[in-house]
Amino acid sequence: MKKFLITANWKLNGSYNFINKNIDLIKKINDYLHFCHISLAPPYVYLNYINQFIKNTSISLTAQNVDIHLKGSFTGETSINMLKDIGVKYIIIGHSERRLYHNENINLIAKKFILIKEHGLIPILCIGETKEQKKYKLTEKICINQINSILKLSNNVNIFENTIIAYEPIWAIGSGKIANIDEVKNIIFFIRKYISSFNKKIIENIYFQYGGSVDYSNIDNFLNKTYINGFLIGKVSLKLKNFIFLVKKIEKNLNSNWS
Ligand code: PEP
Repeated sequence: MKKFLITANWKLNGSYNFINKNIDLIKKINDYLHFCHISLAPPYVYLNYINQFIKNTSISLTAQNVDIHLKGSFTGETSINMLKDIGVKYIIIGHSERRLYHNENINLIAKKFILIKEHGLIPILCIGETKEQKKYKLTEKICINQINSILKLSNNVNIFENTIIAYEPIWAIGSGKIANIDEVKNIIFFIRKYISSFNKKIIENIYFQYGGSVDYSNIDNFLNKTYINGFLIGKVSLKLKNFIFLVKKIEKNLNSNWS
């Protein structure tokens, strides 16, 4: 049985004050974890600070971004090896906010994906369609394009082994509206089938997360669905008490269904 992976994306939020106020709650999350792993994605500058509190727990660190260069004259950037150095395990790439506000295109994201894999960390690849693309029934095409850019660059489908694909409809992120569960199922099945058509064996080693306005009141829609292996959570992860309620609910559900 795969453990669930819940990634808490803090985006551009947090401070020493915020962390210090919440650190007991953060550490407490570990007491509830049996079927889930939690990975926290604070802004870069707090990764190392948080790391000292989560050693020997089932809580790990995720970075929200990484550069495609490993060293050199790239002012303002952070490399994979630097992230590795401070104990990061996962790196989010392709988040719609980076695609939109930082003009990151599929080629750059593909480069990041491959580099992360080559250096032994785990990419969390966000894919998903805009509202407009959904309206024109382009969801499958958009998601496959995003997968294809990686396949094209690496020329080897095994690059997807032990990685995470987070299906995040862009219109659902931060909007309070979740995606229809049947549509989530269809798109995940579609992607699975597509990758399987190259190599059946690796598909069981790919995690599929859902992200987009997940909270305590709507999480039931996504539980009991064997094709979802976790969640990428933004807003709720900043309210630690609510985040713990959410984690407890997920754990309770997994306990009653899987044990
Ligand atoms: C996200 O930004 O990846 C996300 C899922 O955010 P939210 O949970 O706030 O919709």
